[in-house]
Amino acid sequence: MAPSPALRIGLMSRPPWSAGDVATRCTACGICVAECAFLREHGTPQALAASFDPRRQDQSHLPFGCSLCGLCRAVCPEGVDPAALFLAMRRATADAGTLQLSPYRGLLSYERAGTSRLFTWYGLPDGCRTIFFPGCALPGTRPRTTLKLFDLLRGNDPSLGMVLDCCTKPSHDLGRSGHFAAMFGEMKAYLLAQGVKTVLVACPNCHGVFSRYAPELEVVTVYEVLARADIGVARAAGGEVTVHDPCVSRDNAGVHAAVRTLLGAAGLRVREMPHHGARTLCCGEGGAVRCTAPRLAGAWTSLRAAEAGGSTTITYCAGCASFLGPHTPTSHVADLLFEPEAALAGRVKVASGPLTYLNRLLLKRRLRRTLPVASSRERTFRGDADGTRRPAGRSRAALVLLVLAVACAVALFILGSGMPGGSVFR
Ligand code: SF4
Ligand code: SF4
Repeated sequence: MAPSPALRIGLMSRPPWSAGDVATRCTACGICVAECAFLREHGTPQALAASFDPRRQDQSHLPFGCSLCGLCRAVCPEGVDPAALFLAMRRATADAGTLQLSPYRGLLSYERAGTSRLFTWYGLPDGCRTIFFPGCALPGTRPRTTLKLFDLLRGNDPSLGMVLDCCTKPSHDLGRSGHFAAMFGEMKAYLLAQGVKTVLVACPNCHGVFSRYAPELEVVTVYEVLARADIGVARAAGGEVTVHDPCVSRDNAGVHAAVRTLLGAAGLRVREMPHHGARTLCCGEGGAVRCTAPRLAGAWTSLRAAEAGGSTTITYCAGCASFLGPHTPTSHVADLLFEPEAALAGRVKVASGPLTYLNRLLLKRRLRRTLPVASSRERTFRGDADGTRRPAGRSRAALVLLVLAVACAVALFILGSGMPGGSVFR
């Protein structure tokens, strides 16, 4: 199915590279520079806009050091949006042929698997107008929690559908706008053709993508739905936590409030960090900066961990939870909803590595067996609008490696050799 014309026009018919109005509106006041290690290293948005040439190989790496977190926009007194400038720069390198994809091979393989026939599944019950779109990270790391969330939501809407797919944000953020437009456009067209009106998302990245590129659909986070529904959250023994608002959610005041409502219902006090809500920080994972500039990614992580000050940090992005976890005690709010004491003690089993792929396959199998649907599909569409798809031989080799990795995970699981938890089997 072809992407919608509007999406193609918005992404693919861009004029040649232009810095827009950043060069003229940015006064080089330095306020955003003081907040950001990337800008401190490279200069003001005004200077970068004036000097960048996407055709120069020695400059093409520059915008990939920006996490696209948007803090600069949030603090700018002139209303300038430097993050949009750096995304435009990324796209310009792709258009100019200077984008180097090799550092992002792993990330793009993850995305490719997420949109493949093997991992995708659309299950739409009779009369389905709303779907749950849990994204990639939550089903992989927390399949049981994903199922529990789905069951809770179905309690309010028995015709709720389930869509296991990837929103293709990695390609979006890397500037592969042709591939993103083709993949997301095909998904959107299918959902609209099926009569879907509302998408419930668990991942803030999916929320950002659907909100921006699918204005025909209502997009709501599951946390807002649950906070409104007064679901009777399991109560913890009490205590204080702090909240990491994912940077992609900085403009979504509704989800900021909903997560705090859920924490309050669980009997927890929230101590706010200096950067929260609209002025939150990146966890370090944003924009795939770690692939080419791990030092800059680490600067964000260190700052976030320092602000948390050792307090248990609650977030609502599975990616942020995985990224911050090794640096400061971090739990996903969904863990807290179902296992509050274990979540606060850091004892919730969360899968990682190859087991996340296995979990997604098992989750799909369970849903196919148990969810009564009127229509379903696995996805066979493969966008290749940027011509960056791997040669067939390399794709097959990557698939074989993935299958081997999953097989190893299964073997370790069966042998009970202390695999990380979170499997739908448990
Ligand atoms: S989007 Fe974030 S990382 Fe990029 S320039 Fe702005 S504050 Fe810095
Ligand atoms: S805060 Fe705004 S005006 Fe000041 S340097 Fe940053 S983008 Fe320019």
